[in-house]
Amino acid sequence: NGTLYLVATPIGNLEDLSPRALRILKEVDLVAAEDTRHSRKLFNHYGISTPLTSYFQHNEVTKGEQLLQTLQEGKDVALISDAGTPAISDPGCLLVQRCHEVGVPVSAIPGPSALIAALAMAGLPTERFAFEGFLPAKTHARCQALRLLRQELRTTVFYEAPHRLAAALQDVLTELGEERQVAVVRELTKVHEELFRGTAAEACEHFSGKVRGEIVLLIGPAEQSTPEESVRDALRRWRKETDLPM
Ligand code: SAM
Repeated sequence: NGTLYLVATPIGNLEDLSPRALRILKEVDLVAAEDTRHSRKLFNHYGISTPLTSYFQHNEVTKGEQLLQTLQEGKDVALISDAGTPAISDPGCLLVQRCHEVGVPVSAIPGPSALIAALAMAGLPTERFAFEGFLPAKTHARCQALRLLRQELRTTVFYEAPHRLAAALQDVLTELGEERQVAVVRELTKVHEELFRGTAAEACEHFSGKVRGEIVLLIGPAEQSTPEESVRDALRRWRKETDLPM
């Protein structure tokens, strides 16, 4: 059998392709991409001439079986998505499961993922977090989903569409209160990269107009009521021990 490589590709800045990712993309027999026109840009930039085939949500099953056959014929296949890590809010998970079922080896070539980059730079607690993919598009369902975070002690990470951000933040405020800490990371690795940190109320005010670009929304943990030291307490202790203003 060949190997299925899950290759992470840049989420904006083309320089973020790892040397190993580049080598694998050049060496495999076939690259399955979400949008072949989109990936052609990456291929042109790096002089990659490996054949491209499309693999996206709506041909996931039929195309997946074809790719599996190719792999079973001994060919190596790389799977890439439009941006970031395949199988994370992108097609790939089903194919990976099928590969494991039939004994085709799967190997990850790690690299960019918007969720990890956003979490790392947002400054919210990172020792425990939950990733929830996209929030529901409709207010009622979104509020229901957000309500579940009232007692959530982990930072929660969402992908969000720019035209829904303002409405989503309003729902965060309604369901979780105006003091809940949030962070919005926009256009990671691109020219207009922006990080906003603040309360739900401040975020609603900041993003009340038209918002553009790609967005990761992070919601901080609910106030901790357990005796465990929260990150906020730890920061307070730091300030005290180093004579910084509280
Ligand atoms: N598989 C990808 C990954 O690992 O990051 C995620 C794919 S998902 C379909 C696309 C969403 O990821 C976007 O709608 C946005 O929420 C987020 N995203 C992707 N690139 C981003 C960027 N440069 N800045 C902020 N968010 C980004």
